[in-house]
Amino acid sequence: MMLYDAVVIGAGPAGITAALYLVRSGVSVARVENAAPGGQILSTAEIENYPGFPKSIKGWELADLFDAHLASYPVERVRGQVLSMEQTEGRTFLLHLAEDKTLEAKSVVACTGAHHRKLGAPGEDAFSGKGVSYCAVCDGNFYRGRDVAVVGGGNSALEEALYLSRIVNKVYLIHRRDAFRGAMIYQNKVREAENIELVTGSVVDEIRGGTAGVDSVAVRRLDSGETRVLPVEGVFIYVGMEPVSGYLPEGVNRDAAGFVLTDAEMCTNIPGIFAAGDIRAKRCRQVSSAVGDGATAATAASSYLEQWNA
Ligand code: NAP
Repeated sequence: MMLYDAVVIGAGPAGITAALYLVRSGVSVARVENAAPGGQILSTAEIENYPGFPKSIKGWELADLFDAHLASYPVERVRGQVLSMEQTEGRTFLLHLAEDKTLEAKSVVACTGAHHRKLGAPGEDAFSGKGVSYCAVCDGNFYRGRDVAVVGGGNSALEEALYLSRIVNKVYLIHRRDAFRGAMIYQNKVREAENIELVTGSVVDEIRGGTAGVDSVAVRRLDSGETRVLPVEGVFIYVGMEPVSGYLPEGVNRDAAGFVLTDAEMCTNIPGIFAAGDIRAKRCRQVSSAVGDGATAATAASSYLEQWNA
């Protein structure tokens, strides 16, 4: 089995950047990718805050550009999902993928990001893919000219409510508090949109429907207990993210939600394991911060490999 200097797990902005910096430092690199390169930006309609694109850029276009940048470098691309990982007595890491595939590396950069958290409302699972969605860019078109609900109050919920408002007839934006967590620029746009109705201070009691899919959402005001049934055919849920970190060895320190703890150089508590991007415990979760994390992690991994090879 080939022993790589570094295996980068994940093909979002952090993973692509880490692989780019590592291969340019002259070490052997494999990158494990579970899906098409791009990660979360593939399900983001427009990216307005990545420097260099003053007129904004579509998520898939930026993903293509990131991937094209890496294409001419000798990075081994391995399709699959890392299921578990362990350290050997020789300090290398064995990464176990599906179908009994195993990779061995001197260092690992974990860039597997995070995925959308579920709301936990009755009907959410039953209507998943039949009206309940976590990706407005993927599924928004199915609801062209119809009424939908968006749940959440962070940047994702606000951005996707705005995206949907340009396609659908009406968006109900349901949020459990009266104040939004998302950036003021999106809050202002949401308030200005004529076809977005704010349903704040309210929670989803149930997502309802029949064989044809979702037909309504029952919401309840938290202060008065007053209930209301919103006639919608789609429910887009954006209530935060969960890290994809379960495959890392148990000894890797994480916060209560499972996000990986690192120092400012992206080193975890286990020498040789680095983490970059949304898998980390941090506040700023942006394409630009993921790119920065990837470069920092690769630099730290290169220093680690220099010591290893000395
Ligand atoms: P987030 O910022 O954590 O927001 C999650 C939202 O869901 C919050 O408003 C939260 O309510 C609500 N929520 C959580 N659990 C809930 C539940 N059980 N029931 C009802 N509501 C619930 O998550 P996000 O919007 O997915 O964003 C994740 C990260 O990516 C953030 O750091 C965000 O800034 C970043 N991001 C940035 C951009 C951008 O700048 N272009 C775009 C997308 C995401 P409370 O507010 O009451 O806690």
